[in-house]
Amino acid sequence: MSKKIFVIGAGISGLSAGIYAARSGFDVTIYEQHMTFGGLSTSWSRKGYYFEGGMHWLTGSSPKMPLYQIWKETGALKENNPIENRDPYYVYINGDKKLYMYRDLDKLCNQLRDFAPEDKKMIAKFYNDVKALINVHLVVNDVMGLKAKNPRHPGLAELLKMAPAGLKYSKLVNMSYEEYVNQFKNEDVRHLLMGSIGYRYNAMSFIYTIASFASGDCGYPEGGSVTMGQNMLDTYKALGGKIEFKKKIENIELDIEGKVTGVKIGGEILPCDAVIVTQDMRNAIDTLFDTMINDPVANKMRKNVVSEQNVFICAGIKADLSHLPKAMVFPLKEPFEIAGVKFNEFRIYNYASFKGRAPEGGSAITSLFLGPSYYYWKQAKEDGTYKQKKEELAKRFIEILAEYIPETKDKVEVTDVATPCTYERYCSSFEGSWMSVWEKGTKQYNYPQKLPTVQGVYFAGQRTMMPGGLPIAVYSGRIAVQLLCRDTKTLFV
Ligand SMILES: Cc1cc2nc3c(=O)[nH]c(=O)nc-3n(C[C@H](O)[C@H](O)[C@H](O)COP(=O)(O)OP(=O)(O)OC[C@H]3O[C@@H](n4cnc5c(N)ncnc54)[C@H](O)[C@@H]3O)c2cc1C
Repeated sequence: MSKKIFVIGAGISGLSAGIYAARSGFDVTIYEQHMTFGGLSTSWSRKGYYFEGGMHWLTGSSPKMPLYQIWKETGALKENNPIENRDPYYVYINGDKKLYMYRDLDKLCNQLRDFAPEDKKMIAKFYNDVKALINVHLVVNDVMGLKAKNPRHPGLAELLKMAPAGLKYSKLVNMSYEEYVNQFKNEDVRHLLMGSIGYRYNAMSFIYTIASFASGDCGYPEGGSVTMGQNMLDTYKALGGKIEFKKKIENIELDIEGKVTGVKIGGEILPCDAVIVTQDMRNAIDTLFDTMINDPVANKMRKNVVSEQNVFICAGIKADLSHLPKAMVFPLKEPFEIAGVKFNEFRIYNYASFKGRAPEGGSAITSLFLGPSYYYWKQAKEDGTYKQKKEELAKRFIEILAEYIPETKDKVEVTDVATPCTYERYCSSFEGSWMSVWEKGTKQYNYPQKLPTVQGVYFAGQRTMMPGGLPIAVYSGRIAVQLLCRDTKTLFV
């Protein structure tokens, strides 16, 4: 009889774990608290507009990346979602002035040199930093002691190509993204570069992001989050995997030796041989067990996680914006303040030229404001002002939008605002976050996906390796199953 495995959550890591576990011969059931799959990687419709609420770029979408094989194996990338490698991947617009975020590093830097000769020296430095990281990527490796049908380990040549990054490590990790960008004298160049990632990251994260685009990776699969998630779900089901929606796992049951015996759902205990937890590990260690886990891994996580949070605003516009770029960054004359954080740039994703995202002649747009706002929104929930604050925010957003994209004036048909409280409610993630911030002067923490005090429980998901996101979700699902295979002396397929 094959061993009974329960997976908690049908996000990207849960689907990945389900696929590898089913393929390796386990009897797998995924329990998802919601009525749908995808978790944080999701999209939704409002009044005929369809908003991409998750994936903006996919690391490992280039066939040159080892991670690409994992996306293919899990069925995430198929013929129905070809990759768009947009170039430029965003455009900075300041009145008549435009700067293009080209993937091609030479083209990008030549443009910057022409635009801002005063920054010649800094542009050369930036060029060298990006070049040094251009071959850095997520290495696909098997856990030690695993019996695998197709073993996978990085070759020496692959690792050596990444070596130049080592020389930049200390400098870039010990500087913040903002400090790095502030070395440029030209204000427009600074705004352009600040449009890349959340402002709290270190310079290493920024340069790595630019280098990943420059290497030809980080495309956008057509159909976005939902098509990709559906592809993975189809793959899982075709392997015989079972899924139960609207089933929240309340507790993981352990015997007195700390070995898993089952899970509790709706007060009922269902027995199983092992559990793969993909609920945000930072929350799971405190909520899914009778007593809070107290071991070095859990304590390290409690101490070190800095959660990336986000306010996501989307709007349906009764106007065709397909003549505008698909991603734009505007410098703001006055900072846009959300939950005490002042944003100097206004980033807009414009889905007008994507098929099926809006009614005829309309455009769906979205915007992300990354920064710590969880406790502000939590307080608003407690004092009853949450709805009102969201409405006020949407109103201010529409006003600013009309200032920078005049065609949107009086044309907004629908808006929606997701706060960290939305993500917390929807996915039970820690402080409503979906990635970890790698701050200046800190280590890039990765966490063992098995706790020393608990047996038969494996963790996967964005929180297990910094900074997280989709690549870590899919990869950690695979690692969790490898640990399970190793412990149960099963061939990993
Ligand atoms: C606006 C936005 C933009 C993003 N852009 C990108 C991007 O461009 N590129 C990128 O790489 N990443 C991006 N991300 C991050 C990425 O989407 C997430 O990091 C990733 O999807 C996390 O996957 P996961 O499986 O680890 O977690 P989750 O998606 O949180 O999955 C966990 C699942 O478990 C379920 N669950 C939790 N607890 C229980 C329980 N007790 N019982 C049953 N079910 C439970 C949840 O409902 C959820 O479905 C973005 C995220 C957002 C929100």
